[in-house]
This record gives sequence, C-alpha cells and structure tokens, in this order.
Amino acid sequence: MSFSNLGLSEKVQAAVAAAGYVSPTPIQQQAIPHVLARKDVLGIAQTGTGKTAAFVLPMLTMLEKGRARARMPRTLILEPTRELAAQVKEQFDKYGAGQKLNVALLIGGVSFGDQDLKLTRGVDVLIATPGRLLDHTERGGLLLTGVEMLIIDEADRMLDMGFIPDIERICKLVPFTRQTLFFTATMPTEIRRITETFLHNPEKIEV
Ligand code: AMP
Repeated sequence: MSFSNLGLSEKVQAAVAAAGYVSPTPIQQQAIPHVLARKDVLGIAQTGTGKTAAFVLPMLTMLEKGRARARMPRTLILEPTRELAAQVKEQFDKYGAGQKLNVALLIGGVSFGDQDLKLTRGVDVLIATPGRLLDHTERGGLLLTGVEMLIIDEADRMLDMGFIPDIERICKLVPFTRQTLFFTATMPTEIRRITETFLHNPEKIEV
C-alpha cells in the first residue's frame, strides 16, 4: 500500500514524501478515502497510530479547493489539552508548508488580544481547546457558521476532563451539514451516546 492511491492531492503527497513516510498506517489507509468522500468517520484508535495525519492529510487536500467565506474558519479541530493542540498545529505546519493556509491555535494561557488579531485577519483552520473556543464565540469575535469539517479528537479524554457539555454547545454553533470526524481510544457509554448525536451515518474504523 502506498500513499499514491488514497486520493490525496499531489502537494500533500509531496509533503508526505518529504516527511519520509513510505506507506500509510492502517488508520490512514482506512480513514483517508472516507474523509475525501466527505463521509463522517468514527475512528477508534490510540495515539501513535498515525491518526493525526489520517485527518490532517485529507483536510489539506480538501482545503486546496474552495475558499473561506467572509474570513470564517473552514475547519475546526478540537483537542482536550493545549499540548495536543500545539502538536496538531506542528503537523499542519509540516504537511501544509506548500499551501498558504492560515492556521490559528486558540488555547488557554495566551492573551485574547493576540488571538483576536489572528482571527480578524482570517483563518482557514482553527485548532482549539473547547473552553477557550467558547470564550471567543461568546465574546462575539468568532463565527463558526462557515465550518465545513469538524474534528473531535481524543474524545474519551474530553469526557474525563468534563468537556462534553462544551462539545455539545460547539456542535450547535457549526452547520448541521458539516462533515464530522470523531476519534477516541475507547468507547464508554457516554461516548457512544454522543457519537449517535453528532455523527451522521459514520464509517466506523477500529485499529
Ligand atoms: P499520531 O498517532 O498521530 O500521534 O502519530 C504518531 C507519529 O507517527 C507521529 O510522529 C507521526 O509523524 C508519525 N507518522 C504518522 N504517519 C506516519 C506514516 N505513514 N509513516 C511513518 N510515520 C508516521
């Protein structure tokens, strides 16, 4: 199996080659074609399986087409911690280096002023922790009605940290017609319940 028959753009394939990856990991093989077909995905996978690239690579391919409307983010990635959010941003910087994308990180511990400035300049990809994202939407500086793709990563950790009510609120702020990718390492009852609410006919992938 190689990266050339998953449907990724030439630019993204070049970035993958530059990263030195020879073949896609099982989650990448299974998830990428579904993401590119605009299907919802429920991925049950641990960290270390290559799950970040499983959503970042097709997202970069998708972002090559179309443009942001009225400076609203087209994609939103939710992470439970600042550290994970920062790691995902690094992967965007690595694989998306050939694309002129504006990627913004909205995490606690950084001043609102700097983040507001970045938002007013327009962003394509927003990577956020749930609490800080809601702080911004409540302050009125951020609209999520242009979001085409929503990623909920490490959902079981979100549950452990008490973020599920925040996630439910955020899901009401993005369009009903968005595509949703949902990743979790385990499937406790509460996680099963929210996948039934947030995902539309998802492709389930377990690695
Ligand atoms: P993740 O599970 O997303 O935290 O990824 C774990 C590590 O695997 C990261 O350091 C990636 O850079 C690396 N990685 C992701 N996909 C591949 C691949 N197809 N081949 C080799 N390494 C990879």
